[in-house]
Amino acid sequence: TEEKMILMVSAIAVVALLPLAIMRTFFGELGGATVNGLGALVSLALFVYVYRTREIDVAGLCLSLLVMGGLVGNIFSKGVGEVYFLYPTIVAAYFLVKPLYALCLSLFALVLLLPVTWVQLDGLSFAKIYLSLLGCVLFTYAFAKQRNEQRDQLLLSATKDSLTGAGNRREMDRRLAEALQRFERNASPMSLIILDLDKFKQINDTVGHVVGDELLVRVTTILQSRIRVTDDLFRYGGDEFIVLADTADLATGAQLAEDLRALVEADLSISGWQLSISLGVAAYTKGETREAWLKRADEALLESKRLGRNKVVVSESPQPPKPPVLLTP
Ligand code: GH3
Ligand code: MG
Repeated sequence: TEEKMILMVSAIAVVALLPLAIMRTFFGELGGATVNGLGALVSLALFVYVYRTREIDVAGLCLSLLVMGGLVGNIFSKGVGEVYFLYPTIVAAYFLVKPLYALCLSLFALVLLLPVTWVQLDGLSFAKIYLSLLGCVLFTYAFAKQRNEQRDQLLLSATKDSLTGAGNRREMDRRLAEALQRFERNASPMSLIILDLDKFKQINDTVGHVVGDELLVRVTTILQSRIRVTDDLFRYGGDEFIVLADTADLATGAQLAEDLRALVEADLSISGWQLSISLGVAAYTKGETREAWLKRADEALLESKRLGRNKVVVSESPQPPKPPVLLTP
C-alpha cells in the first residue's frame, strides 16, 4: 500500500507540476517555473527510484517533505486562502512515512505557518483554522498508529506459529517459493533440514502436554540461537520443524544439523528432561521442485528414525537426467 501510494503521489506531482512549469516559462515567470520544474524533476526521480528499487522509506520522506514544503511555500506566496489544501496533505503524509514522522512534519508545518496566518486572519478565524488543523493532525496520527498496530498483529498471526513463534506453514511455503526463485537468479547453494523430536508422544504421555509445550518452545529457542539471521525456522506441524539454511551447501547444512542435534541433546533446562531430535538434510538441486526437495529431506529424516533416532542423515543429490543417446548414425 505504501509503495503504491508513493508511486501515485509522485506521479500526480509530476503531472501537476510539469504543465505549471511550462506555462510559467511561457508567461515569463521564471522563478516560479524553476521551482515547479525542480519539483517535477524530483518527483519523477522518486517515482523511478521506488519503481525500480521498491525502497520506500527515503522516498516517502523526500516526497512528503516536497509536498508539504511546496504547500507551505505556496501559502506564504499566495496567501492564507491556500491553507485548505493542507488538510488532505496532512492525511497523505501518513500514507507516505511512519506516523511519528508524519506527526512531526505536520506540526512543523503548522508552526512555520504561524506568522503568515496570524497576520492575515482575524483572531476567531485563526483559532478555527488552527484548532481544526490540529484536530486533523492528531486524529490522523491516532488512526494511523492504530492501523499499524493492527497490521503488525495480523502479519504476526498470518506468518507465525502461535505456540513457538517459529514461522508457520503458510510462511514456509512462501519463503520456499522465494528461495527457489532466488536460486534461479544466483544459483547460490541452500539446504533444507527437517527435524522431529524423538519419542515426543511418550514424553507428553508421561509429563503432560503443558511440559510438552514448554519443551517445544525450548527446542525452538535452541534452534533459533544457532541458525543465522538469514536462515529461516518453521514449525512444519506437531513436533516437526524445518530449517531453510541460506547459502549452505550439503556439507554446511549437515554441519548445522549436527550442531542443532548436539545442542538439543545437551540441553537439560526443562525439569532435567533429556530430549533428542532426528534430522534429515537435503541440498537443493537445480531443476528440482519444492515438493521433491522436501520429500528427499523427509526421507532422510525417516532414515534417521529407522537408524535409531538422535542422528543426522543427509540425502545425496539426485543424479541429473542422462542426455538422450543417439542410436542411428
Ligand atoms: P518419533 O520418535 O517416531 O517421532 O516418535 P514420536 O512419539 O515423537 O511420534 P510423532 O512424531 O509421530 O508424534 C508427535 C507427537 O507430538 C504427537 C503429539 O502427542 C505431540 N504433539 C504434537 N503437537 C503438539 C503440541 O502442540 N503440543 C504438545 N505438547 N504435543 C504435541
Ligand atoms: Mg516425533
